[in-house]
Amino acid sequence: MPRFSEKIDCLKDAAKNRAEYAEIAQFFISVYSFVENSGENIGIKFKADSSKFSEKNREGLVLIEPADIEIEKDNLIKFVDGIIKTCAESGKAGIDELSKLSDVLPTQDIDFKAIFAAILKRDRKVIEEFSAKYELSSPLVEYIFEIPLKAALENFVDKITDNQETAEWHNSFCPVCGSRAGMSELSATEDGKRYLVCSSCNYKWSFKRLQCPYCGNEESANLFYFTAGEDPSIRVDGCKKCSRYIKTRDNRVGNADIPLDIVDILTIHLDLLASKEGLERGK
Ligand SMILES: [Zn+2]
Ligand SMILES: [Zn+2]
Repeated sequence: MPRFSEKIDCLKDAAKNRAEYAEIAQFFISVYSFVENSGENIGIKFKADSSKFSEKNREGLVLIEPADIEIEKDNLIKFVDGIIKTCAESGKAGIDELSKLSDVLPTQDIDFKAIFAAILKRDRKVIEEFSAKYELSSPLVEYIFEIPLKAALENFVDKITDNQETAEWHNSFCPVCGSRAGMSELSATEDGKRYLVCSSCNYKWSFKRLQCPYCGNEESANLFYFTAGEDPSIRVDGCKKCSRYIKTRDNRVGNADIPLDIVDILTIHLDLLASKEGLERGK
């Protein structure tokens, strides 16, 4: 599992070599540097027992359930404050809204566990109620709170010792945390075998080569893909049935050593093209 320092190195290369991605790469370098320096002090822990991974998967259950989330409030507020400062310095979001969120966190009685459980369950209601209560924009709140959740999940995944192949897991959602696939890849060493990569914890599991991970469509006539620009290793896999897409890296073609969440950041041009084609990103 790529550590944050590896991601930072890849972003530094991109900032140097690709002018159009320099600004966004710099922003994520700041975010990942802060996460790297925070180590285990994120303020979110999971009491799930990773030695039960295979056993739970065989029963069709994901390893981490929302009830497993544990909050260390002081660490969490400190972490989120650091992320808010990083975003404010980059000028990527409104300073006023960010400072309002920073003021709210330590002074109000916030049910952080409910917020993170809602993000894991893709239940937008809790975030929308929180945002409305403090007059904040809900996409900004969700964006900020996703960073500690993802970082804590990634730290958790790193320590899973029950390294099963998830051979019995055929679902399109993550066997660790239940989130949707964010990216996919085709293996260079297993004849193009397909893997999905979790949008929250970065765990990777095998999945059918010809199936839409969002609606389950398996009719090849309704599945298509396209590449764009100079890099044929990253493509958009689309589905005519649900009009959703997933970005896929073909490791046989190239770029296999770059962490997929970094590939995601550095291929926004493909998201723009997909959107022009009337496709929506599956998440
Ligand atoms: Zn996951
Ligand atoms: Zn579909």
